[in-house]
Amino acid sequence: MICNVCVMDDSDPGIIIDEYGVCNHCKKFKKDEEGYKNSKHFNKEKEFFESLKSNNKYDCIVGLSGGVDSSYLVYLCKLYNLNPLLVHVDTGWNSKTAVSNIKKIIENTNFDLITHVVPWSSVKNMHLAMLKSNLANQDSIQDHIFFSLLYKCIHKYKIKYILNGSNFTTEGVSVPSWQHSSMDALILKDVFKRHGNGSIKGYKFMSFFEYYIKIPFINRTTVICPLNFSFYNKNDAISILKDEFDYEEYEYKHGESLFTSYFQNIYLINKYGFDKRKLHYSSLILSNQGNRETFIEKLKNQPLDEKLEYSLRNYVAKKLEISYAELISYEDPTKLNHYSNYNNWDNLRKILVYFSKLITRFINLKTYH
Ligand SMILES: [Zn+2]
Repeated sequence: MICNVCVMDDSDPGIIIDEYGVCNHCKKFKKDEEGYKNSKHFNKEKEFFESLKSNNKYDCIVGLSGGVDSSYLVYLCKLYNLNPLLVHVDTGWNSKTAVSNIKKIIENTNFDLITHVVPWSSVKNMHLAMLKSNLANQDSIQDHIFFSLLYKCIHKYKIKYILNGSNFTTEGVSVPSWQHSSMDALILKDVFKRHGNGSIKGYKFMSFFEYYIKIPFINRTTVICPLNFSFYNKNDAISILKDEFDYEEYEYKHGESLFTSYFQNIYLINKYGFDKRKLHYSSLILSNQGNRETFIEKLKNQPLDEKLEYSLRNYVAKKLEISYAELISYEDPTKLNHYSNYNNWDNLRKILVYFSKLITRFINLKTYH
């Protein structure tokens, strides 16, 4: 069962396809698109970036992975004369191309860059515990520490704006049920407690309090996704980056991190049947950046050919100091797990939502009386 418009199918257990063959993702995408188009910043990129200029040392912070979206954000900062603090978190998985792209961007912009190098033994021990948990979101190990260290810089330099490369035109279709939130430190801690070995010294967690209370309400820091303020076209962004920074393209999506490549192109597909290309291709179809028939053809093949799959898996196994066979054993589709079997922040979030509704009601009452 596949949608007639995009390429989403019943690998999303929650998909709803109507009598015309159109799925809920298509409808949500169009609704979100309308919302972005009606936002006051849409097609006013220049005014928006200029409004961020401040007397502080840094106008904003950008987490730079070396991927297209974050690199393009840095280009926009340069174009509109902002002074961002760039933060890169090196978890040991950078591809050579990513290292080279980041170097070129810094040479061209002269922006300040802080690189956090996370002790490899801690990252490795976290990954091994997460693999043993059989959970879907193996990439939460990298994602969590990336945001955790980014937020620590925000606090240190009192930065008000985080520019984030998320965008609806290439990532608008998503299936949250496929994986747990990478921001939930409780899951990561419990996974390590149950399956981990050795030390994770130097691996920084971000608490529920920091994420939901301290950053937005005490530090008063706002996350902004400027790529939603225009019709972001990935191919155009790549051409600009090539011209401006001599940027090199990656062999495959998320090629900036070799673990993310393994996770998305091999692990998730083999174990859970979740092919993230479907999300990306569907977003591109719905934003008129690609042809459905071409994508359906591409989806008939695995993302990587056998040789590339072998070399990537071999690299990951060696780096984690486990055998090739052990890594494959973690891809076993009969051994699945769900994050609800671990401590998690779902109940805390429910309490937070309850109190935020109460507070809103209280403020409304005060306003009207
Ligand atoms: Zn659809």
